[in-house]
Amino acid sequence: APEREELTWELFGRAERELSEQIVASGWMPDLIIAIARGGLIPAGAIGYAIGIKAMGAMNVEFYTGVGQTLPEPVILPPLMDASELPGKKVLVVDDVADSGKTLKMVMEMLRHEGLDLGDETIAVDARSAVIYRKPRSVLTPDYCWRETDKWINFPWSALPVMTPHAQDQADVAVGS
Ligand code: 5GP
Repeated sequence: APEREELTWELFGRAERELSEQIVASGWMPDLIIAIARGGLIPAGAIGYAIGIKAMGAMNVEFYTGVGQTLPEPVILPPLMDASELPGKKVLVVDDVADSGKTLKMVMEMLRHEGLDLGDETIAVDARSAVIYRKPRSVLTPDYCWRETDKWINFPWSALPVMTPHAQDQADVAVGS
């Protein structure tokens, strides 16, 4: 099996503090944090608490269907975020990892360059990106990054099998309840 980078819950606690320190040290404080769901949700929430930001949003983007398996391009899935809150705000976009970097690149370009299509007008947003990990091949250099690795990363929130009612039945049988 290929070697993995293992992020434990304990190490994540250090990572989110150190990443938050980078953001504060840069002097650029966001008004709003957007998590790329689902991988960015837990990092974004932790950073929100660390730097005292309560205004949180999420964008649901899907790209990977398995280890190293991707769709042709990242796609935005419902529920869609309310974009009317973004104009004039400093927005921090948070994800778990910039691997190919395509997910974050798509989101950042949408926010920074093309802007958001708000019906009759298009507005560019002051946006920066933060990730826990960056891979060397990433097409985008995140503004804030904790560590670099070229390995597949195991994140604590996706390390265990997904719970299903059926799997719970099997577990109950196994412990004899
Ligand atoms: P990218 O668009 O930068 O290639 O990656 C998009 C998403 O794929 C990441 O936000 C993450 O959820 C998932 N992903 C990419 N590389 C890894 C990895 O090494 N480990 C895990 N667990 N997920 C990854």
